[in-house]
Amino acid sequence: MHIQIQCCGIVLMLTLFYFYMRQRRISLNTQRAFLGVFLATFICITVDILSIGAIEYRDLLPEHFVKFIAKSYLITLLGVAISALSYMSVDIYTNHNVYRRNMKTYLILALIGAIGTYIAPLDYHYDKDGVTVMYTHGPSLYVTYGMALIFFLRIFYLLRKEKAKINPRRREAVCIWLLIWIAASQIQFMYTNVLIVGYAGSIGIMVLYLKLENPETNLDRNTGLFSSGALYQYTKQLFAREIDFATLVIIFENTAYQNVPLGKRDAIKMELVEYLQKIPDILCFKNAEDEFFVIMENPQTAEQQAKTIRARFRSGWGDGQAHMVHPQWLYLPHTNVAGQADHLLYLIRHIRQNGTTFSEKDFFCIEKDSVDQMYRKKETEQLILEAIENDRVEVHYQPIFSTGEQRITSAEALVRIRGRDGALVAPGLFIEVAEESGMILRLGEIVFEKVCQFIQEHPLEQYGLHYIEVNLSVVQCAYEWLARDYINIMNKYQIDPKYINLEITESASTNAKKTLLDNMQSLIGYGVKFSLDDFGTGQSNLNYIVDMPVDIIKFDRSMTNSYFENGKAKYVMDAAIHMIHGMNLEIVSEGVETAEQYQTMQELGISHIQGYYFSKPLPAEEFIQFLKKQTS
Ligand code: C2E
Ligand code: MG
Ligand code: MG
Repeated sequence: MHIQIQCCGIVLMLTLFYFYMRQRRISLNTQRAFLGVFLATFICITVDILSIGAIEYRDLLPEHFVKFIAKSYLITLLGVAISALSYMSVDIYTNHNVYRRNMKTYLILALIGAIGTYIAPLDYHYDKDGVTVMYTHGPSLYVTYGMALIFFLRIFYLLRKEKAKINPRRREAVCIWLLIWIAASQIQFMYTNVLIVGYAGSIGIMVLYLKLENPETNLDRNTGLFSSGALYQYTKQLFAREIDFATLVIIFENTAYQNVPLGKRDAIKMELVEYLQKIPDILCFKNAEDEFFVIMENPQTAEQQAKTIRARFRSGWGDGQAHMVHPQWLYLPHTNVAGQADHLLYLIRHIRQNGTTFSEKDFFCIEKDSVDQMYRKKETEQLILEAIENDRVEVHYQPIFSTGEQRITSAEALVRIRGRDGALVAPGLFIEVAEESGMILRLGEIVFEKVCQFIQEHPLEQYGLHYIEVNLSVVQCAYEWLARDYINIMNKYQIDPKYINLEITESASTNAKKTLLDNMQSLIGYGVKFSLDDFGTGQSNLNYIVDMPVDIIKFDRSMTNSYFENGKAKYVMDAAIHMIHGMNLEIVSEGVETAEQYQTMQELGISHIQGYYFSKPLPAEEFIQFLKKQTS
């Protein structure tokens, strides 16, 4: 009986199974699908042996029985094809319901194939030159082959079409596996006595196992906990099934082991691993950066479990519990904060690296609100970055009216970003983020350069303007090369510095007063003048004006408004105006929207007025048209 090759296949598969079962495994969809392929191939080879036996002893057995066994073998080939499709689909259909729907369709097709195979006639030997050759043939075989061909074509189609979704290693492994099958069936077709298709299946399984299904690849080598790769796979699966879970991250920065000698740290880590592995209903993962991830799939008990684990660190570790360890903790009570696995991991990384709040506390609970805020910030950062890279930063100019000269004599340059959709984004939505990320340095420079270019192209005096005011952020004021960079830009465009007035705010001096003053002195020495912005917002006090080498004080819109709304504010403003004039400084009143407001400000002796009453901030060309109308 020619079953030696099949028996080798069985032995090979049993050996692989032994190694597979000995490993610590995590319940991953891909591994379940792999077991499906394994089982289907195993059944296929076993039934192959049975069918060879049945055909060999066909004279002793009832004919129906022999045919039934031979046809069963054919049907197991369909089983293998289906299991291969299921294995491939795990990567493609991450949504569990879509996956199941697809599998259902394949199963129905396989069932039709199976019924066809059983109904259609099959012959299993013929005489060639007087010698009996064992070879199944006939319509039943063609039904199976036809159906198997459909499945294999589908696999090839998916391999090509869904290339991006399939793990490249899995793609490669499945390709090798299919090639082995095809080669084996070709050989078997040509040499009908060489029954190697079943054995080829077991070789294919070995390829899959070696290439990516060895459970050991999911383990962290040092601790035996599951690895970060397994964490991604596993959480991806939980998200796909919409299972809510809590995540506790234990982070061991160097400070965690402050009082532990270097030689003892590994032993303590292993003690922790042992401790974690004993806790029921949790799964522990560890990445290369020594961060432990505890996944708790029951959010009701998760909080208590997290508390218990943290409480363990109140006592020491190591011999006689002599060493105290103080890790940092991140806790995500629910999955709604992330939405998908890579977001979750990105979120944790992001908070680790950027969370200023995190570095202050040792425990940080990530709630939905803070995450939404973080994502908005991330989006804004992206918006700014794209605008900088694609020249979508724009400068608008808001005219400033001189009550003395009764015309527009200056303007404030105000930044805007043109979004991808063409809509304008106001600075209120991005300045803070630009400051926090440091991008304000580049953004401010772009604005300043655009203003200089504007002045170069439109000589200000021609339009009756004396200067343009440009805002400086707190961060720019604390940047030690600000003066040098701005002077270089003015030189580049050959701008007379008298056309520039830089606006600072009081908060600029709280961080780095010395740098601010150095920058101011250099720029003033060069010929630039300064204004103090936001006066009256609580960020300002009168003493400050005395200290700062500014020429203009800008009353914030809120101050202008409160003059008309609040009796007491009137007196404050009167006193401020009196004092500022006493110091020989000019005032710009911002946010003047009505004729009445304008009239009152003028009567108060305020020299400059800025507000919608005259004009909103305008794009450069419109601003020039606006000025032309005034001069004509
Ligand atoms: P800011 O420097 O106090 O600028 C005045 C703001 O008040 C501008 O808002 C202007 O459009 C608005 N405004 C002027 N008159 C009126 C009015 O009559 N009614 C109303 N409702 N609003 C009026 P914008 O352009 O949205 O700028 C907001 C803030 O963003 C600015 O306040 C400034 O702090 C900052 N900013 C704008 N451009 C830049 C820039 O290039 N660099 C930096 N660092 N900050 C900038
Ligand atoms: Mg301003
Ligand atoms: Mg202002």
